[in-house]
Amino acid sequence: MTKFHSAMMSRRGFCLCCAGAATMAATGTWLTPSEAFAQARAIVFFIKSDAANAEISVTPLRRGVSALQGSGGNMAVLTGPDGKLLVDAGISVSQPKIKAALASIDAAPIKHLVNTHWHFDHTDGNEWVNGAGGVILAHENTRKRLSSAQRVEDWKFDFPAVAAAAIPTEVFTDSKEMRLNDSTLALKYYGPAHTDGDISVYFEEADVLHTGDTFWNGIYPFIDYSTGGNIDGSIRAAEANLILATDKTIIIPGHGPIGTRAQLQDFRDMLVAIREKVATLKGQGRSVDDIVAAKPSASLDAKWGQFVIDGGFFTKLVYEGV
Ligand SMILES: [Zn+2]
Repeated sequence: MTKFHSAMMSRRGFCLCCAGAATMAATGTWLTPSEAFAQARAIVFFIKSDAANAEISVTPLRRGVSALQGSGGNMAVLTGPDGKLLVDAGISVSQPKIKAALASIDAAPIKHLVNTHWHFDHTDGNEWVNGAGGVILAHENTRKRLSSAQRVEDWKFDFPAVAAAAIPTEVFTDSKEMRLNDSTLALKYYGPAHTDGDISVYFEEADVLHTGDTFWNGIYPFIDYSTGGNIDGSIRAAEANLILATDKTIIIPGHGPIGTRAQLQDFRDMLVAIREKVATLKGQGRSVDDIVAAKPSASLDAKWGQFVIDGGFFTKLVYEGV
């Protein structure tokens, strides 16, 4: 069990997209995909309540950039005389602990918030962050998703439109550059990948890359087909991250531990390997249940399938897109 795995499982076994984990913790076995999906709806509520008990860790990286972990997706913070810029906002119930974590870095006020995509475990804190002074910036599709009700089919969950104060007021289409705290931030749209609004945030001088949910370090990722994601776009996003990163780049994934380019390469290679196997089987006319039963990810599950999504769930997600 990895350090991340054990740390997260100690939090009662709940995590985003972890459709089977709650029952896994109770029974010691994974659910089948269909059983897991039936559990998915309740998981969204559990994630929110679980975040209330989670501790928030602060990891200083380079040149005023830190990572905050423990509430939903991983967050980044850039601080300095121009105030703090946050990348993603965590779960709203974590507000007191996130505030304390930010105050432990320095006294600079929150001035900006960038959302990597619309998912609630990255945007649930938008409203309080905006109330604290953070102007919210995102891709235009993220604003669209947050502004109206969304159904995520694989979670069996309907999300209402968010409060007005939680909606991004600044959006862009392809790329955007910001200068703040003696730092250059390059924001770049991936195209449809994990959703249809994923962006990367690259802190150039610090050489720190926040990938949003286009990179889950060491674990199978969720792919949200309901709001524009797909496996091929996810592979393209992983390859875009590889082009941007060098061996010196510090990479903050959406989920999992802070990583390296080598780990990003492993993630991309895993996506491609399973995509090819599932595409071949689907091309033979086999059904999704038949393909899941054939366990095309079997050789990779020991490494990647021990946490939020098991091999069967991930195979089903890949099947949807090939
Ligand atoms: Zn996500």
